Amino acid sequence: MTAHTAVRDEYDICIVGGGMVGASMALALAPGRASIALIEAVAPQSDDQPSYDQRGLALSLSSRRILEHLDVWDSVSLAAHPIRRVHVSRQGRFGRVQLDARMLGLDALGHVVLARCLGEALFQALRGRASVDLVCPGRVRDAASGAEGVRLEVDTGDGLRQMRCRLMVVADGTHSSVRGLLGMGTQVRDYRQTALVGIVTPVRHHQDTAYERFAPGGPLALLPMADGHCVAVVCVANAALAEWSALDDDGFLARLDVAWGRRFGGFTRAGPRRSYPLQLMRADAQRGDRVVLLGNAAHTIHPNGAQGFNLGVRDVAGLAEQLNRALREGDDPGDRRVLDAYLHARRADQGRVIGFSDLIATLYSSGWSAASLVGGAGMLLTSMVPPLRRALLLHGTGLYGRQPAWVRGAVTP
Ligand SMILES: Cc1cc2nc3c(=O)[nH]c(=O)nc-3n(C[C@H](O)[C@H](O)[C@H](O)COP(=O)(O)OP(=O)(O)OC[C@H]3O[C@@H](n4cnc5c(N)ncnc54)[C@H](O)[C@@H]3O)c2cc1C
Repeated sequence: MTAHTAVRDEYDICIVGGGMVGASMALALAPGRASIALIEAVAPQSDDQPSYDQRGLALSLSSRRILEHLDVWDSVSLAAHPIRRVHVSRQGRFGRVQLDARMLGLDALGHVVLARCLGEALFQALRGRASVDLVCPGRVRDAASGAEGVRLEVDTGDGLRQMRCRLMVVADGTHSSVRGLLGMGTQVRDYRQTALVGIVTPVRHHQDTAYERFAPGGPLALLPMADGHCVAVVCVANAALAEWSALDDDGFLARLDVAWGRRFGGFTRAGPRRSYPLQLMRADAQRGDRVVLLGNAAHTIHPNGAQGFNLGVRDVAGLAEQLNRALREGDDPGDRRVLDAYLHARRADQGRVIGFSDLIATLYSSGWSAASLVGGAGMLLTSMVPPLRRALLLHGTGLYGRQPAWVRGAVTP
């Protein structure tokens, strides 16, 4: 990864956005033949970095396999905690589903890691990759694409740079300004919910279990971390946000205790909470002329199943598969057929993950009694029918269906 001053005028591939998806994409292409620029507006170690904050992420087994291929898993794993079991319940209702990694013959279903630690590992791995120039700070101010190529105008803080490339990967997040500059539209469903995320310490140890609970206000999750701490994710209706935000630490922990039905014997410590407005956003098209949208810029989903990055990094693996093959064979990486082959291969997984997450989010925001009835029937069925439990496990681990080569492993559906 070379310094800002070495930036060239022309690249094979420009990746806009060095968040967790864009940085993974740069690493996935780094061993290939392409010259790559990774253009990121905010330095990874800055407190203002929007992708690498203190949010706890549940990384699925599929993400672990991809990060292993990118040579970052060893450093991520130092800061990661295993999820050996998943426990799903409903507030104030009987019935629950328990899933165990051993049902698939696995040691862990996934791992929990702070986004900041993932960012450090990704940027550490990018260092020394001669094929990748990091343009940071670099904010894309203008972009235009056509059959001949892509033209970008990048604000580097000490002036505007003109750059050209054969393919632009747009990974600048949900509110992607580059997607807007290219005139690519979106469809948005506002869930009218906000996620509050912070670290808490339950009195009873989490036993390496990830807990998810459906409550009238929105879903809650507790993700296991080292030393008995947990990442708490509380999704609250926007109408109740002011009330939740005004709570001091003791008030917040008392609310959590009630919401979890005192399952954990109370909570002793709460770290600062950050809030994230929740929506479903899908780009009308993920491909333009020599352009492909990736990660949150292509699709942003509700965090109820902890699948956003897991899906995004499987897209990274799928796109890298097509681009590396095209580059090896001397083909143009911006060719429409290359990008269409990627989208075709990824359609089913994207549809499944986005559809499932939206179904749960819509069901539970449309009325507690209807959701409780349908959710209860679903849980009862899932707890009683082993193939359904296995399908749910494979969905959660990201191994369901046809997946990129980096994901395929010993366990197949
Ligand atoms: C509360 C919450 C909990 C979540 N939990 C999980 C979980 O447990 N598991 C999971 O898999 N996913 C989870 N997700 C989803 C996950 O956070 C996202 O999928 C992920 O952040 C998407 O990464 P990204 O790189 O596409 O976008 P972003 O993280 O938004 O990164 C975009 C990057 O682009 C840069 N940028 C923006 N504009 C420009 C520009 N013009 N020029 C240059 N750079 C630019 C930004 O500085 C930023 O670094 C969660 C999300 C939320 C909100």
